[in-house]
Amino acid sequence: MTSSLTGGCLCGAIRYTVSAPISELRACHCTHCQKTSGTGGSVNAAIPSASFALTQGTPKRYTDTAQSGRTLYRFFCGDCGSPIYSHRQATPEMMVVRAGTLDNSAGLKISTHIWTASARPWSHIDPASERHPGNMPPKT
Ligand SMILES: [Zn+2]
Ligand SMILES: [Zn+2]
Repeated sequence: MTSSLTGGCLCGAIRYTVSAPISELRACHCTHCQKTSGTGGSVNAAIPSASFALTQGTPKRYTDTAQSGRTLYRFFCGDCGSPIYSHRQATPEMMVVRAGTLDNSAGLKISTHIWTASARPWSHIDPASERHPGNMPPKT
């Protein structure tokens, strides 16, 4: 677990810091994450938005209607196209950062897979991880 994390896009126009600790990652296999990533989906760190700070650049925003039907804002670099983070319109206090944009992944692992029903057959899903065919079920 790292206490201060940094990250950014491929071209370097967007840079950010995360002050919240991250240890568990969530892989999303929804068809929208497949399109935006050009691969099997996205791997994300869920964090409080207050712990995220842009230190350079302004990402572009795409307004998506997610597979769940919710409005999801997807933020990406307008220069190189790297997806950086997203959050639901209804819950701006929480966001998910694309784990592949972090500079350092030491100690991080994928603990949960969501939207596995639409996973590509070539995507690896660890059978020991938590898996959900659709969205993350509400916390009980
Ligand atoms: Zn960029
Ligand atoms: Zn997704």
